[in-house]
Amino acid sequence: MNDILLGCIQCGKCTGGCPVSVRSSLNIRKLIYRSLIKIKDKNKDLGIWECTTCSTCSIRCPKGVNVVDYIIDLRSDEIERGKVQPQVRDTLESVFKFGNPWGRVREKRADWIEENGVKILQPGEKTEFLYFVGCTPCYDTRTQEVARAMVRVLKTASCDFSILGTRETCCGNEIKRMGEVGLFEMLIEDNSKLFKGISIKTLFTTSPHCYNTFKNEYPGLDFAIEHYTTLINRFIKEGRINPEGKFERKVVFHDPCFLGKQNDVFEEPREILRAIPGIELVEFERSREKSLCCEGGGGRMWVESESEEERLAVTRVKDAADLKVDVIATACPFCLLTLEDAVKTSNLEDKIKIMDIIEILDWVTKVENDKLTD
Ligand code: SF4
Ligand code: SF4
Repeated sequence: MNDILLGCIQCGKCTGGCPVSVRSSLNIRKLIYRSLIKIKDKNKDLGIWECTTCSTCSIRCPKGVNVVDYIIDLRSDEIERGKVQPQVRDTLESVFKFGNPWGRVREKRADWIEENGVKILQPGEKTEFLYFVGCTPCYDTRTQEVARAMVRVLKTASCDFSILGTRETCCGNEIKRMGEVGLFEMLIEDNSKLFKGISIKTLFTTSPHCYNTFKNEYPGLDFAIEHYTTLINRFIKEGRINPEGKFERKVVFHDPCFLGKQNDVFEEPREILRAIPGIELVEFERSREKSLCCEGGGGRMWVESESEEERLAVTRVKDAADLKVDVIATACPFCLLTLEDAVKTSNLEDKIKIMDIIEILDWVTKVENDKLTD
């Protein structure tokens, strides 16, 4: 029997809280039961690729069973047997070859940078803040806008920050959760070597996924690790960033699972939004620890769902429409992309805009306000 499962009493609280169990064949309690009584069905994945690794199950389990690690184990088995969707295989191969899951060459990793530039840290150099941009904001055209907004806002804060440019490589958070633990360990080694060659006081990330793995899964890092929302919130409190313009919109904050549920960062994103003049901030009924997952985590950006049922991001957008908000704000590139896609497929593009918090702050702190239109 898998040791991770010792203690399971089959109460079903994991399945009861699992957001994807309502729209797919994934039934985590049943999977655990099959493992406990040693049923082996190597031809069926029983919905394991539907899991978003949101961790709701592990958080709800009264016996402390780490359900997510069990799912990762099951995925590792599938990968070892070569029983994975071609898209999953291509994603893993891309990380191995190019250091990103998007199949893009390393040389283009820093192409998102605007003409006025940002300092690229060279081996042996020092920086107070290292901005770890992440694969998605480096390559995806929509989330590149988030990285550019980050740079503009940090410049208004007179922050001494640098990036790694084309030397930056995938953090591996999603790779581990897709079950490719060997490749994840290789990425830890590559990144740790890169960090050892420079001197950093604080590393901060765009993505809660990068933040999660650097903070909780990389051994021996000797600098502080933050998600940008905690850093920016501190800069606002210290008066280094002054949101002066008005953003007169009704806004709801969507908690990213890897920021809130998994790392207890609930307040800082809301404090930033409250500091922005003009915002009417409202809450989803399912918010904070109970926030509904957008289905972007756990490698799901690169996994084809087997289910025809309504996607959770669509449910989320409909909930936002019921609240009559103008903007869903979030602080994660995956949430941004899944929610934006859901707004399009729900024909709500004219009513609801999806924005990263840093984009809203960019709007009110500067400057190039003409980039965003009503
Ligand atoms: S919540 Fe925990 S104890 Fe209950 S069925 Fe799930 S894994 Fe087992
Ligand atoms: S991590 Fe989330 S999606 Fe995966 S089984 Fe647990 S509750 Fe369900």
